[in-house]
Amino acid sequence: MKDDLQIERGIELLSEARHVVALTGAGISTPSGIPDYRSPKSGLWERAEDMLEVASSYGFRRNPRAFYDWLRPLLRIVLDAQPNPAHLALAQLEAEGRLKALITQNIDLLHGRAGSRNVLEVHGHIREIVCLACHHIIPAGPALEQFMNSNAIPHCQRCHHVMKPNVVLFGELLPMAAMKAAQTQARSADLMLVAGSSLEVAPAGDLPELALRNGARLIIINYMETHLDRRADVIIRADVAEALPRLVRPFVSSSPTK
Ligand code: ZN
Repeated sequence: MKDDLQIERGIELLSEARHVVALTGAGISTPSGIPDYRSPKSGLWERAEDMLEVASSYGFRRNPRAFYDWLRPLLRIVLDAQPNPAHLALAQLEAEGRLKALITQNIDLLHGRAGSRNVLEVHGHIREIVCLACHHIIPAGPALEQFMNSNAIPHCQRCHHVMKPNVVLFGELLPMAAMKAAQTQARSADLMLVAGSSLEVAPAGDLPELALRNGARLIIINYMETHLDRRADVIIRADVAEALPRLVRPFVSSSPTK
């Protein structure tokens, strides 16, 4: 295969590294069937403007019903999705003590469901919903389930204001605690492994740059080019669900022989 040399080099870098940090984006969940909701090309948007109109902080406040109508089919897909071999490979790498932290731009909870523990969700997640007025936070499960069954938009029990999944919409700040922890991890990394992110969305996309500035090596597994390709030590342009398990296999002690 054309990626053999790159995979081999990647395995070499992984075996030399002491503090590996992964950064994942929408591309790691597309093999699980989840479209990239932040991309105008995802098929979720007829026009690029619709994205800002509906899935922005401003759009949500103006018309939460339009947001929830848009969310419904996506939510169904996300709730039914299963972790794929790329998610599982990263969970194994952590279980073997080689991966110290996993920074993700995804909100779909698939890393946690695959068994990853130290996950920093810098674009939020659908585990909780938050009141936009009093900032009361509750577990999302029952409220979203009720929404899917009855179409009732979740409202705050304390102040009756509309609630929103705890995901970062366009025009919103990233969660400070997760972002700070992600920056600390990026600075501590001696190897950053980017999987399924085009590194276009700032400031999460800037994290590999932070790692590079501190002398880290860089592996990028992504179909599309990224602005850091020329500074990467290894570039693998392949399906993450195939490439990541190959990269991780030598480090997994009890790998099932399938
Ligand atoms: Zn409230």
